Amino acid sequence: MKDPYRMTMFTDLGLMAPLCRAVDAEGYTVPTPIQARAIPHLLGGRDLLGVAQTGTGKTAAFALPILQRLSEKNQRPVPRAVRALILTPTRELACQIGDSFAAYGRGMHLRRTVVHGGVGMGRQVAALAGGVDILVATPGRLLDLVSRAQVRLDAVEIFVLDEADRMLDMGFIRDVQKIVGRIPVKRQTVLFSATMPQAVASLAASLLTDFERIEATPPATTVDLIDQRVLFVAKDDKRHLLVDLLKSSAVTRAIVFTRTKHGADRLVEQLRKGSVSADAIHGNKSQGARQSALDGFKSGRVRTLVATDIAARGIDVDNISHVINFDLPNEPESYVHRIGRTARAGTSGAAVSLCDADEIVHLRAIEKTIRRPVPVDSDHSYHADAIARLHADPAHKPKAKPNGGKPRVNNAPPSRVQPARGGRPPHGNGSRRPNAA
Ligand code: AMP
Repeated sequence: MKDPYRMTMFTDLGLMAPLCRAVDAEGYTVPTPIQARAIPHLLGGRDLLGVAQTGTGKTAAFALPILQRLSEKNQRPVPRAVRALILTPTRELACQIGDSFAAYGRGMHLRRTVVHGGVGMGRQVAALAGGVDILVATPGRLLDLVSRAQVRLDAVEIFVLDEADRMLDMGFIRDVQKIVGRIPVKRQTVLFSATMPQAVASLAASLLTDFERIEATPPATTVDLIDQRVLFVAKDDKRHLLVDLLKSSAVTRAIVFTRTKHGADRLVEQLRKGSVSADAIHGNKSQGARQSALDGFKSGRVRTLVATDIAARGIDVDNISHVINFDLPNEPESYVHRIGRTARAGTSGAAVSLCDADEIVHLRAIEKTIRRPVPVDSDHSYHADAIARLHADPAHKPKAKPNGGKPRVNNAPPSRVQPARGGRPPHGNGSRRPNAA
């Protein structure tokens, strides 16, 4: 059966020519389902509640109509004023959204800037002095700038609250309320959230007027295109196996997930010793260090980024060839989120999980969630047959609790995963460590 949204083109959505050209230049051929539904609605000036996570194309879904509406009105912002405000919980997301506006709004002569904490205020103050059409901000820094009278919010025409659930998780509700209290009641409001717990639903009800609700799950085909494999390996051999995998020419850009920040740092050291260029990104790193790791990864200077789940949320880098689970996640939902980093927007990708004896419990939980076994790849130098046999043995009852006894940190919704397609080996040329036992 045909998906009706697949037939919709950007030119059908009422977007002006420069925006159609910009999405074309980005290589987007058809709008994603959320874009097909949200764009006409937002162009009409209505409020929107979007239940969607990163990977669904939600940024363009709100950025394109904002650019169009602002340019159609053809007004200049007054000094220190803002016409469209996008609030987002983290610096990384703020920068990514800023980059998207820059890409889509090329040649439109709209002024925009991004403000977030962790860096000096001087440049931000200077950028805001003449007023901006579009401001992407994290809540704390925005309030700081407001209280110093460096920016005023009384001319905001369009307000976007992005990742509302995460905003609440991170304790930003008071800040958000203070900001909302300063923007005009008469405005267009857009709220995006990956999940819809009661607190977000109440916030949405208080912010939105006569709104449309649009839900989007990342296209199932995305996960369908991921070649998933599990490699059974003893804990102590994992790092050697990882070096082998990363040296394969099939791995052009990889994210390696570890459970802990310390584990991420240790792994980067070990990879560098093995002559693999790698950098880590996690919450203990300074903003500068995180940004430089991300920049190096995006530019291709560093092929491997080692990340924890929390730090990786919101990282938006295209063309990731491999997601490698150095540690299997405690939460099966995290597995789905992690592997969704590859095979973005219709490209293919590979997800490789290294599983030691203690992680069989996690692997079983993952297989239950995705409703199918993860194909086993035993074609590597460190294959631990004993672990493979334990995993295959239905009588084997692993001792660890499925969540490792730790509180849940990932409250994203369980995602539907389609069966993986077999075929491509996860590490291309089947590289092996010489003389490995
Ligand atoms: P988002 O959900 O906004 O984080 O976007 C996820 C990724 O999809 C980004 O890398 C976008 O560049 C990309 N993207 C957004 N819209 C489209 C589209 N219509 N076609 C192809 N890729 C897209």
